[in-house]
Amino acid sequence: MAEVSRVQRAPDDLFLKIVAGEIPATIVHSDDLVVAFEDVNPQAPVHVLVVPRERYENVAELAAASPQALARLVEVAQRIADERCGGEHRLVFNTGTAVGQSVFHVHAHVLGGRDFTWPPG
Ligand code: ADP
Repeated sequence: MAEVSRVQRAPDDLFLKIVAGEIPATIVHSDDLVVAFEDVNPQAPVHVLVVPRERYENVAELAAASPQALARLVEVAQRIADERCGGEHRLVFNTGTAVGQSVFHVHAHVLGGRDFTWPPG
């Protein structure tokens, strides 16, 4: 089924490969807990993904296992937004295929640089 083949599940974890440098990406931040890189298919002038170095499927798993990494992730997202779009941004964690998650390594979308509508589609 096309939907299933689109989904990235461990051990085929695309973002772990980016963190490990095995797949090229435009890295904009890297530290001991998180890595941030440009989204390959940007939906706004600012569209950066921030991921923990370790794999957790979604933000709830990350919060339970490593609140320090989640706090760092949010801090880095805010810093990127501060630097690129005056701090105003949308921070999105898609959780589950029904809402559009396609890579099952938790990632925050940092979106900004244009106006957004609400509610999201
Ligand atoms: P969706 O694909 O529906 O946006 P996610 O919330 O799981 O679902 O987001 C995955 C994101 O990863 C997408 O915005 C996609 O453009 C991005 N992406 C996929 N492959 C790469 C890559 N190699 N480098 C950077 N970003 C990527």
